[in-house]
Amino acid sequence: MINGSIHLGTYAGIPLRLHWTFSFIIFVVVFAGLKDNREYSEIGVAFLLVLIMFLCVVFHEYGHALMAKRLNVKTVDIILSPIGGLARLEKLPKNPMHEFYIAIAGPLVNCFICLIIGSILFAFSKPIMPDLNMNLDKVNNWATYLSLVFAINLVLFLFNLVPAFPMDGGRILRSLLSVRFGKKKSTDIAAFIGFGIALMFIIWGILNSYYTLIIIGVFVMLMARGERKSAKQEDFLLRNYANDMDEVKVGKVYNDAALMKDVIEGYRDKEGRNFLVMDENTKIIKGVVTEESIRKAINEAAEEYAVNDFVTAEYYTAENNTLQGILNEMKTQNAAYLVITDEDNEQYIVERGKIFDILDKL
Ligand code: ZN
Repeated sequence: MINGSIHLGTYAGIPLRLHWTFSFIIFVVVFAGLKDNREYSEIGVAFLLVLIMFLCVVFHEYGHALMAKRLNVKTVDIILSPIGGLARLEKLPKNPMHEFYIAIAGPLVNCFICLIIGSILFAFSKPIMPDLNMNLDKVNNWATYLSLVFAINLVLFLFNLVPAFPMDGGRILRSLLSVRFGKKKSTDIAAFIGFGIALMFIIWGILNSYYTLIIIGVFVMLMARGERKSAKQEDFLLRNYANDMDEVKVGKVYNDAALMKDVIEGYRDKEGRNFLVMDENTKIIKGVVTEESIRKAINEAAEEYAVNDFVTAEYYTAENNTLQGILNEMKTQNAAYLVITDEDNEQYIVERGKIFDILDKL
């Protein structure tokens, strides 16, 4: 079990996981079936159709993942939950056209399945679209099953093309806009359009008592908001901001055999509030002496102690990452301090709490 999901298998190096909440679907199908006094065979058919639908979702997600692989973007895993599938990419491609190819690959898989099944049914002169009001006991021959698979894939194809996050259509729209407007502005435009669509879903849902549509609308609105926020964070350069922050000013000690009195002297001369201990030759960071431990050293009259006794390794050096990404990484690495290096090779040390403050203001 990782993050509440079980590993089903791995294809092309991409693990497929099933989230535990998926078991709700089994309960819902069985419960709804028993409540309506359905035959066991009908519940079985409903169950089989749910399985087929999720198999099609798996194909869809592998469409994204395999295209990403072709474009050298790693997929961490594919997670199946009751609300659908998600191929978690390690990072978003920098090239907007690559984002476009990855986003459209999923719906194209469903389109491809529709074409194949549609051709088979057409060749055998069977109806391609199923009667959506038919009783489940009518689902008893291959042609009806195939027509239902056709309908499932048609819905997956069309629904995912709706231009609103988190549907693929939102990403397709954003990536196409990005070619011209850049990522942040494109995300704003795409999120705005998605917001409008979500509002239409909700109004339509209220007028016609389609509760599912209302829930989807609210969900889409929340996703649009999240997407805007992360684009804003990505656009925000912490190191430029750090330039203006006095409290992140950093002093340097180029020797881990140095004594605390050097650091304390630098602190009193306001060289910095936190100190980086670095290797003299390689300039590789060995650790951080924080303001807190400098104060402690002053209180304990520890001037003659080695800086090594006061150095903490609980720091994280950010490469290009979003603020939320940095925070997540710091949490996993249990790092209380962030070390950033700007273009002029100047370093800044930011406390984790400070990043929360910045995130709140964005
Ligand atoms: Zn998709």
